[in-house]
Order: sequence, then C-alpha cells, then structure tokens
Amino acid sequence: MLNQIENKKVTLGQVVYKRDDQQGWVLARVVGVSENYVTLELEDGQRIKQKSSTLLLRSEHSDLINVSNLTELTPINEATVLECLHQRFSYNQFYTLAGSTVVAINPFKDVDELYTMHKICKYYEHKNKEELEPHVYLVADKAYSCMKRELGCVNQSIIVSGESGAGKTVSAKHLLRYLTIVSTPEDAIDLNNSVPASVIERRVLDSNPLLEAFGNAATPRNDNSSRFGKFIQLQFHRNGNILGGIIQTYLLEKTRVVHQRPGENNFHIFYQLLALQKEPQIPDFLGPIKEEIQASRLECSLISKDENHSLLTTLNAMSEIGITPASQVAVFQTLLAILHLTTLKFLPQRDEESSGYSEDQDLSPAQLETVRAKEESARLLGVSPQNLHYSLLNRSIVSGDDSKSSRRSVFYKPVMVAEAESRRDCLAMLLYSKLFDWLVTFINHQIKVEYFDHNIGLLDIYGFESFEENSLEQLCINYANERLQQHYVMHFLHDLQMEYESEGIAWKCVPYTDNKLCVDALDGSTGVFGVLNEDVYLNRRSVDHQVCNRIIEACSNSQLVRKPHFGTYGNQFLITHFAGDVLYTVKDAVTKNKDNIPPELISLLHSSSNSFVLQLFSDYGSPSLETKASRVVKSHRKKTVLSSFKNSLDSLLAILSQSDVHYVRCIKPNTMSRQGEFDRAFVLQQLQACGTIQAVDICRRGYPAKMTYQDFARRYQVFTRMKDCLGKLFSSQSHSKTCRISVDFNEKNLSTFKGSFFLIVEEHLSKMQRTC
Ligand code: ATP
Ligand code: MG
Repeated sequence: MLNQIENKKVTLGQVVYKRDDQQGWVLARVVGVSENYVTLELEDGQRIKQKSSTLLLRSEHSDLINVSNLTELTPINEATVLECLHQRFSYNQFYTLAGSTVVAINPFKDVDELYTMHKICKYYEHKNKEELEPHVYLVADKAYSCMKRELGCVNQSIIVSGESGAGKTVSAKHLLRYLTIVSTPEDAIDLNNSVPASVIERRVLDSNPLLEAFGNAATPRNDNSSRFGKFIQLQFHRNGNILGGIIQTYLLEKTRVVHQRPGENNFHIFYQLLALQKEPQIPDFLGPIKEEIQASRLECSLISKDENHSLLTTLNAMSEIGITPASQVAVFQTLLAILHLTTLKFLPQRDEESSGYSEDQDLSPAQLETVRAKEESARLLGVSPQNLHYSLLNRSIVSGDDSKSSRRSVFYKPVMVAEAESRRDCLAMLLYSKLFDWLVTFINHQIKVEYFDHNIGLLDIYGFESFEENSLEQLCINYANERLQQHYVMHFLHDLQMEYESEGIAWKCVPYTDNKLCVDALDGSTGVFGVLNEDVYLNRRSVDHQVCNRIIEACSNSQLVRKPHFGTYGNQFLITHFAGDVLYTVKDAVTKNKDNIPPELISLLHSSSNSFVLQLFSDYGSPSLETKASRVVKSHRKKTVLSSFKNSLDSLLAILSQSDVHYVRCIKPNTMSRQGEFDRAFVLQQLQACGTIQAVDICRRGYPAKMTYQDFARRYQVFTRMKDCLGKLFSSQSHSKTCRISVDFNEKNLSTFKGSFFLIVEEHLSKMQRTC
C-alpha cells in the first residue's frame, strides 16, 4: 500500500487515516505508541489498537477542493485521493485529473451548464489548457490537438471505462459532441446553439440515440445500460476537419430479447414500438404499423413504459441518418414479428389414450399452443405459417454417419417442449441480432469515408458486471474489462516505468497489480475459454458439473479460478477479477458458446417473401443438411462466441496499441444512482480496482510532460534564452532523432508551477544538456 506509515514516523497526537469498512478511510488521533502497535482514538471517542503499517498519512492540507489534479496531493495515498474526490464532489466538482487521466464522477443530476456550446469554445480556444478546470473536454481536446499537431502516434484513442452506471456512455457522448463540433469547419459553429452542423456531424451524433434504442436496456444498475460494446473511429482530414466515422460494435447481449432477469427490461426499442400506438406525432407512413399493433392484442410481458419521448428521438434519428420510410416500416414490422415470436407457447402433446397432457415433457413431443401469435409473426416475416410451425417443432436428421455416402435420406423428428422453446428463442435472437447488424452497417454506410488521414477512436464498452447469477454474457463482458485493464496496466503503468528507466531517470519502481494472470486463466489455451470451446469443437454434450470440474482442473495452477465455498450445485465456479470476485454458472454456457442455429430456421428465413428479411440474411448461404460426422468436422472450423469475441478484442487492442491512448475513468458515487450521495467505501473499491491510485503516484513521481526535441524547439524557440540552450542541445543531437525529453514539473511547488513553466523548462534544458 502506498505511503504506509512506519512505526517510527508516528508521533503522539498525530492525526492519521485508519481503514473503515463503511467510510473507506476515517481520521483517528494517535494517543499511544508502543513497539508493535499504536493506540488510536476514533471520532466517537472509542480507542483501538492497530499496527502502524495499516495506517495512512493524511493530507498536509485539509481543504482539498481546489486540488484539481490528484498528483498535487501530498502525500498521495488511497485515503487522500478518496478525501479529495469526496470534497470536490460535495462542491459539484465532478471532474478531477489523475495525471493526464480524467476521473469523472457521475453527478446523477443534470449539469447542463458543464456542456454548453460556450464551454466547448472555451476549451477549444484557450491557449493555456493547464489553466482550465478538469473536464472530459480536456481529454477530447488533447486527443484532437495531438492528432492535428502529429505528435507521437498520429491516431488517437480515448478509452472510457468504469462500471455499469458510472457514466461511460454519457461521457462518450460529450467527447463525441466536442470532437465533431470543433472539427466542423468554423463557419458552421454558431454560439447560440442553433448549429447549422454539417450533415456528417449530425449523422455521427444521430447514430447515438439510434444505437442506444436498439442496444441499451434498463437494468437494476442503470436505466440506460449499454448491452453492447462500441468503438467509433472518427475520420479526419489532416487539416483537422471531420470527414466521417466508422462504428464497430461488440457482442450485443441478444439473450435479453427472450429472457430478462427479474427487475430487468428488454431493449428500449421494444417499448418504443409499443408506444407507437399512443403517439399522435408519428409520421403518416407508420400509420399502418400503429394500427397493426393496436389490432394485434399482443400478449407480451412488456409493461409499456413512458417511451413516447424516446420514440420520437429514435424516429427523428432514423430519418436524419437516411433510413427510408419503407425501411423504417420494415424495421418495425420485424420488431413486431420478434415480439410475437417471443409469446409463442408450447405444451407437451396430448396423450391420445388418456386424452390428457403428458406429465413428462421430456418424453412427449411439443405442440404449439398460441396459433394466433404464430400466424402474426409468420405474416410479418413473409413466411408460411405451416413452414414456421414445422421448423419450430421438427428437427432434421440425416441418416448415415458417412458424409460421402450418396444414399443419405433426411428425416424430421418432432422435438420436445424444451427444444421447441429453444428454437423459438433462437429465431427471435437471430432476427434481432441481424437487425442490429443491419442498423450498424447502414449507419456506417452513411457516415464512413474511404479516404482520410487520421482518426480518433472512442471506446465505450459495457462495464464490469457481477450479478447473483452470471453466465456467458458476463464472462465476455468481464473478460473485455480485464483486457482493457491489462492494456491500461501495460501501456500506462508498465510502459511509463520502463520509459523512465530507459531514459536513465533515477526511478524507484511503484508496485502495481498486473492482471495478466487472470487474462491468461480466461483465454489461455488451457483456460476457461479453452474448456468451454472444447465441448463445442468435439460436439460433446457434457453435463454441467463435468464442464465445471474441467474448468477448475484446467485452471488449477491459477489461484484466480476456483470452486466456490458456498451455495454450489457443482455447476458454479468463481473468478477473482481485477474488480472483484464473480461467481459464474456453467448452465447453458456451452450451448450459448456454440450459438448453433438449426438449419431449418435458416431455410425458413430464406423462403421469406419479405425483401427486408431476405436482406438481413443475405450473408447466410443456404444451409446444407448435415450428418453427424460432417457436423463434427464443421464444428472444428466453427467459431464459438468466445473465440470470435476474443478475436474481435485482439483486433481492437491492436488498434489501441497503435494509437496514443487517453483515458477517462468513470466512477459511480453510489450504488443507488442517487444524486449528492458519495459512498466512500464503494468509490474506494472502484479506485482500487482500476489502479487509479498507482497511476497517480507514478505520474506524480514521474515526469508528466514529454515531447520530441523538434516539437519542443518549435514550441519554445521564441524564448531567446532558450534558443541558446536549444542551439547547443541540437548541436549534440541528430536532427532526425526524436527521443523524448521529460520535464519534471514536480520539483517546483505546483502552485507556482503554472506561472514559472518556462523557467522550469530552461532549468531542465541545461540539466539535460549535461546528461545528453
Ligand atoms: P453501462 O455500463 O451500464 O452502459 P454507463 O457507464 O455507460 O453504464 P451511463 O449510461 O453513461 O453509464 O450513465 C448512467 C446514468 O448516469 C445516465 O443515464 C445519467 O442519468 C447519469 N449520468 C452519467 N453521466 C452523467 C453526467 N455527466 N451528467 C449527468 N448525468 C449523468
Ligand atoms: Mg453505457
């Protein structure tokens, strides 16, 4: 732990920080010091004994509201960082710098004054950015100016991280707005907010509400939780003007379409669809859809929420982005078809002899109970009701295991209730995920350009999750967070330390938590993914507890994956993530990982007379009916959900590694999403998990500003005295050399730093000359 107190440093009467489960850290007075312990008096008068190594020093100043960069704290430790953020939060200072990272605490209230057009202009035009208050606009501005000045890597990325509900999506929206506005040619900016924005700017911004309607949902942790990962790369001309953008999405949580946990909702768009029937302001071309919903007497479990307002936003965004009225109708028809599908119910077939329903669902084939819903969905999808019926209730079996055999015949076998239900769910999820893909492709088509010089990527990916029951979806989400954390650790903490060492800067390594072990335990060939993939590749049907045992066995060398001590039914395993322990269940994990789509369902959709549905499935070749043997061969080639997800994250991290990365760390101030409430223990947990405190300490002890010699010369040669220094410096350096110089801001008192920047630079130049 940073800044632990050694016994010899503790003096009687000193006020120190003591760990507290509720408050994170609390102040206590030292009232006794012995060889091994100190006696502390707490605020309520209670006295306790504690090892001094568990205590932390308090800040030299009690008023921390004006400490806008955590590196300015003295000393830097968990308690002072927490105290500083708490004090600032109490005074509505929601942004604080941690070195160059912006820590953003979710205000959970409207703070529109922070995001006015005037503010954007201020952050863009201000010459001395160090004088500005911390803000997400600072990060956006830095990325934009680095790109324009072609410093370091030309391409830039901004990673917005934090747990669910911490404010990533809102922050990403502000970043996007800033970047699109400042990069729109000047004459298009109007300070009165009536911005005649360029078409591309508007389309990029309109993509947000659209993707949120289809990809976000209300969860107990966040009313507008992103259920997909999003990486948007804005494309720029070298003069800094925006040209376009391209969006990459990651793993939409499609199971939400068919199953929502208690207290959770389906994707927003379904509620907006239902709101269509009550909304008077919809365009005429949606009239038939409105009537359709009113007439359908849809018996779905969705309770219509007040989605009228968001419906209009979505419709507006659809039109702005260029989705034609015909396509909008087709989109809503498909959504309605999906809703009808989700209401299909099956029963075990009537037992002829006893004229009753069989008790044992596993032995009786399924029969469809809800005929009307079947007919409605078939009509909306442009398929025949008989065909839909048959595809849901029958499975094809090809005789003979020899794929070369020319005498193969196909049989159809009626399926049981459970399988019919899973076929119904599969069809609904397939349609929805294809609809989402179509939307992303459409948006990209409207915003991307072929030729551009630079880009700035913005990553807003689902936050770390731990529910009572965690399945493959949480495994993927938490794995993505592990990878990003690893990137942060490697590229920020590790590389920075390495860089200092290579520059010969006297440097005492700051210990940091590397989460590589957890990433390896997850995606290594013999890790959790390996075991779950194996069952798919071998086309093996293992029982849950066998899969679970194999996972625990495969990771036996890792302390991070293990059997839980409690409530186990043999199908749960526990992973210690960087952000905490998560208990996973293997129930359905292999099936979800396989993501198998019965060929009958693809054939069904290919038979559609609806051109929109055909378009959604145009990239699916006609399914061939398979023998068991050919299925095994094929499954070896088949990508599993986990392997595809890993691949897409590999590509993402490759892009990030080739760009200059900037970070926004979002923090959720309390678990209840309440304004004005700062739960210190909960905030501390987030700070610990994401390594913010170590990062601050490294920045503080290190050299936060760095630039190439050439850039340094270009920027500061106006100062005559410096010209001499630079002249001498360059005579000893090759002009092409772009090794970095570090300017130590910290030797000076930071309060005088801003005024005396150039003085410090000059001093350091002469110091450098001696070392070069
Ligand atoms: P998830 O991982 O679940 O998608 P998230 O980190 O993206 O979560 P957001 O959806 O951005 O979380 O934020 C949750 C809610 O917090 C928002 O709907 C909004 O009410 C509030 N919020 C977040 N940031 C701000 C802000 N800067 N100003 C005002 N309210 C905010
Ligand atoms: Mg989000």
